[in-house]
Amino acid sequence: MSLTKPAFPVVLSAPSGAGKTTLARLLVERNPDVVFSISATTRPPRPKEQDGRDYHFVDDGTFDRMIETDELAEWAVVHGCRYGTPRREVTAAIERGRTVLLDIDVQGARQVRRLFPHALLIFVLPPTAEELTRRLTGRASEDRDERRRRLLNAHRELEAAHEFDHILVNDTVDRAVQELESILRAEWSRTSRITDLEKHVRSLLHQLSSLISET
Ligand code: ADP
Ligand code: 5GP
Repeated sequence: MSLTKPAFPVVLSAPSGAGKTTLARLLVERNPDVVFSISATTRPPRPKEQDGRDYHFVDDGTFDRMIETDELAEWAVVHGCRYGTPRREVTAAIERGRTVLLDIDVQGARQVRRLFPHALLIFVLPPTAEELTRRLTGRASEDRDERRRRLLNAHRELEAAHEFDHILVNDTVDRAVQELESILRAEWSRTSRITDLEKHVRSLLHQLSSLISET
């Protein structure tokens, strides 16, 4: 008999360009027990993005309907578009015993904290402001005005950093992913998250009693 690995939502937030999507994707690739929550958004897809893999790209009417039918666990307006986490993305992953990773903004993180009090909130910081602007420019997925809007919004995100459980500096990708894995490993072994601990300990005690009586 082995302990059941805890399943819970993990939120990654950061100013745009800090690298949270890069870290989230790598973590999911390296850990079969971790799945990525695919958000719905009214933002148009970037050239390499795929519907159903990166986001569920929807129009305004569809997003309105998702709100009305209470399909979204949380949603927010970010950089002028609407983004939301379909409730099913989180509940289905947890039912399957998976840790579910949510790449969402700080407004969404607050809503997740209220809805899932056992969620773990991680804030990703860029190593420097220069590096943040370099990464955002290097990604080349937004025009100049949109980049400026994202850098201005970085204030709102950075000012919320203290509300999170962990701070992860994304200096190099390898080191940051390793640190993220360490944070998760520590949470997977947290006593309060292990739902079958009592049963497991009872079974060990039972086996121990049998062994003692045999000796
Ligand atoms: P976010 O999801 O936070 O907006 P992305 O994951 O899209 O950020 O990363 C922004 C850009 O920075 C991408 O081009 C990505 O390849 C690059 N990047 C991410 N992490 C690092 C890093 N540690 N060092 C250098 N470049 C990085
Ligand atoms: P991008 O357009 O760069 O993919 O994402 C812009 C911002 O929206 C990022 O901060 C990202 O984390 C956030 N975001 C993506 N999906 C969601 C979501 O479902 N809910 C919320 N609240 N924010 C989201």
